[in-house]
Amino acid sequence: MKRKLSVLLLAGLLIILGLCGCSLNTDKPQNAIPYPSDKAAVSPSAHPEATAETEETEAPTIEPKADPSSDLEVHFIDVGQADAALLISDGHCMLIDGGNVEDSSLIYSYLNKLNINYLDYIIGTHAHEDHMGGLSGALQKAEVGNVYIPKTESDAKFYQSFKNKVMAEGVTPINPTSGTSFDLGSCSVQLFCPKYESTDDLNNTSIMAKVVCGNTSFLITGDAETDEEYDILNQGYDLSATVLKAGHHGADTSSSYSFLRAVMPKYVVIPVGKDNQYGHPDEVALSRFRDVGATVYRTDLQGDIIVKSDGNELSITTEKNENVETNPTVAQGSENSQNVESQYIGNKNSKKFHRPSCKNLPAEKNRVYLNSRDEAIEQGFSPCGNCKP
Ligand SMILES: [Zn+2]
Ligand SMILES: [Zn+2]
Repeated sequence: MKRKLSVLLLAGLLIILGLCGCSLNTDKPQNAIPYPSDKAAVSPSAHPEATAETEETEAPTIEPKADPSSDLEVHFIDVGQADAALLISDGHCMLIDGGNVEDSSLIYSYLNKLNINYLDYIIGTHAHEDHMGGLSGALQKAEVGNVYIPKTESDAKFYQSFKNKVMAEGVTPINPTSGTSFDLGSCSVQLFCPKYESTDDLNNTSIMAKVVCGNTSFLITGDAETDEEYDILNQGYDLSATVLKAGHHGADTSSSYSFLRAVMPKYVVIPVGKDNQYGHPDEVALSRFRDVGATVYRTDLQGDIIVKSDGNELSITTEKNENVETNPTVAQGSENSQNVESQYIGNKNSKKFHRPSCKNLPAEKNRVYLNSRDEAIEQGFSPCGNCKP
């Protein structure tokens, strides 16, 4: 039934896009307006935590568009253990990553389905195949106006072939700097990049994009890990976002507490492959998303995830399993039957114990399973103030 809904939605979209002219080859690309260089930009504050109690320094922010007619659709396309997000606003389109080489035809047909023949922007977040491998498929279907890629490149065939195709269209890829901003239809986009790029650490060269649509916003972070998260935090930009695309497929080396505190997402979308060899998403990252109270959506369980914003409200549709448990508080299907049968769960580190339904459960590796309240007290645990076991 969800399928039917999605089809209807896409059919509607097709009509809308047709009307808006997104499909027209004659669409003029929106010009990228580079933000003044770091020096000229408003002085970035230090790490938010470090400045919390000092005088507030003015950090560069995006002026949210007050236009009540703002609209945006973000399609997190299910490309397995890879990333691809298609953003559409008022007939203008941006593709951030395009999955693996083997997803090229999927990307092609996705654009085809929506009758998209022109992409105002393509962002290749970083030179890994699971992000930029399928972008060539997009270029088979659509012309492109502007391409953003990090300075750090790759010799890999998928990368060179994408770059050659872009150049053949007469477009020179741009290496953005933090603060680069431009409009996408009725939305504004701002890019964040690490100050320091290491060629042997491609994940941490990821270009992050924040897209603001009225009072709602999206932060898409590629495979940025903790190092880059801190780098960007230190640049002092406003990273708050309603929807966060989890870094690195939900790995525990991304989505640090400091970063999540700055973003404070209501929703987290994790593009991740079913039964992938890396164990993504990691339980530790999932527990952090629970701790900040974010609702999690996952492509491995729910397929394509489409988030629509009217500038104020979001509506989220999934290809399948709309109501599936995406972030259970107690590990399900664990071989350790104690997990399920235990009455209480203790935290090795804090020495607090919780009810299994508590929102503040510790990460899997820090858990001690306890059969009774007495056992917990005997072992030196004290009750959590939240769930009051
Ligand atoms: Zn990567
Ligand atoms: Zn990746």
